[in-house]
Amino acid sequence: HNSVVWFRQDLRIHDHPALTQACEFAQLHDSNLTAIYFVTPKQWAEHDVAAIQIDFIERHIEQLNQRLAAIGIELTVVNLSTFDDILPWLKAYCAEHHIGQIFAANESEFNERQRDIKLINAGIPLRLIEQDCVLATGTVNNLSGQMYKVFTPFSKAWKKIASSQPIVPLGIPAFRQPIAAPSLSRFNCDEFYPQRVTSELWAAGEDCARKQLKQFIENDIADYQQYRDLPAIDGTSKLSPYLAIGVLSPRQCVAGILFYYPDALVNDASPAKTWLNELIWREFYRHLLVAFPKLSRSQSFNELGQFIQWRNDNDEFQAWCQGQTGYPIIDAAMRQLNQTGWMHNRLRMVVASFLTKHLLIDWRWGEQYFRQHLIDGDLAANNGGWQWSAGTGCDAQPYFRVFNPMTQSSKFDPDASFIKHFVPEVADWSLKHIHEPHLKAHHINSMADLFSERAKQEKAYPQPIVEHGFARKRALEVLGALKRG
Ligand code: FAD
Repeated sequence: HNSVVWFRQDLRIHDHPALTQACEFAQLHDSNLTAIYFVTPKQWAEHDVAAIQIDFIERHIEQLNQRLAAIGIELTVVNLSTFDDILPWLKAYCAEHHIGQIFAANESEFNERQRDIKLINAGIPLRLIEQDCVLATGTVNNLSGQMYKVFTPFSKAWKKIASSQPIVPLGIPAFRQPIAAPSLSRFNCDEFYPQRVTSELWAAGEDCARKQLKQFIENDIADYQQYRDLPAIDGTSKLSPYLAIGVLSPRQCVAGILFYYPDALVNDASPAKTWLNELIWREFYRHLLVAFPKLSRSQSFNELGQFIQWRNDNDEFQAWCQGQTGYPIIDAAMRQLNQTGWMHNRLRMVVASFLTKHLLIDWRWGEQYFRQHLIDGDLAANNGGWQWSAGTGCDAQPYFRVFNPMTQSSKFDPDASFIKHFVPEVADWSLKHIHEPHLKAHHINSMADLFSERAKQEKAYPQPIVEHGFARKRALEVLGALKRG
């Protein structure tokens, strides 16, 4: 029997259990092994996958092709439209090529899981392997066997289990003699993605990602706690684009930590503790997605979320999207997203709070906009982050905690260097005015001012879209819906 390894959000050859098992199977049966990747642009568009992420994926598929050829495996890129097209394609392929087994990673998202169930029920010999998390979804539970609903006990249980087992990434399987890398079909996404968005700002390849991980752990992890909230500083790992499409596995990250900080799982004072915690947040949200499929279907974790009377003002939403709210910190963040496809975590929290609380716009609007623009777009983390910010989520920030954009601005970008980079209109404002834009008088003093460049720029930059005190009070009233019941 021949076999296939189906690549999904796991575009690597290191630490790839499905690939390793497929190679073992083929060795055992002395049979043929090939690799496939399905391009499903209509499905991706329905899932709001960002064009920049698709570009990043395509660049990695090229790399994967070379790496697989070096171990004797031929990759085929198959252009389809939706998940539904996969079944007839696989049926025909399995029959034609005598496929006895297809190896693939199990995924956490609802539609992906439904797709796999349908395939298996239709007789496709699909073997799913857990490799999406360090600890498989469904294996970190409380005493009554349920998924935790609060992060801290989840992370304690997670560390306890993780510290009781070896965390050792797999190497590249030694398979067969190299072959010439086949020429791949280009991704055929134009109908749903008429505009390509380049991901060039991000280096492509497993080797780059692994090097970046190593350098981060060697040089920066101990300072992470101190710098991670300052968007002007490169204080975080910036590995999320690679983790999101599986160029890097979470196990490689945790094993990397343990190599340099062997007691990180058991020592609460370990310098690696804070970064490890973020990786555990990643796992928490994925485990939640599997335990609560409604999260994949855009429902609030807290059922009372359905009673919130969102204002959903479309003009205000557009101002937020375009970075034109008149709050420099919010606008700088949104422009970072629009221009680079990535946003600093502190700012994701600040803009999400602003959208859902100050503007009372449904968190799903923000979730969708993020997904459509993020290179690291990931349903579990994005949904988790949005619902956390809106106060509707599992172990969320309480609804009555409303981030003050002025305080966030002065605390996390004190010299405004991040803001000035993305909002040049305010570059020569005083720091006080940048952080507290409502104090800035937007009136024009003289005729000379009226025609000066500066006046034009200042006029071009909008007044704050809403006054903080007023918005805070309004949010508390409306979001009070979350405490009824
Ligand atoms: P680091 O700080 O170096 O963290 C290392 C890794 O841990 C990250 O790469 C990521 O995989 C994981 N991680 C870190 N923080 C979180 C978190 N809060 N939740 C889950 N995983 C985390 N992250 C995504 O990967 N994709 C998203 O679509 C996404 N959307 C978000 C939306 C909102 C509203 C918020 C508040 C957060 C979101 N995050 C998302 C989480 C976080 O902002 C990013 O993972 C982080 O900014 C990526 O930068 P980094 O790789 O330098 O992170």
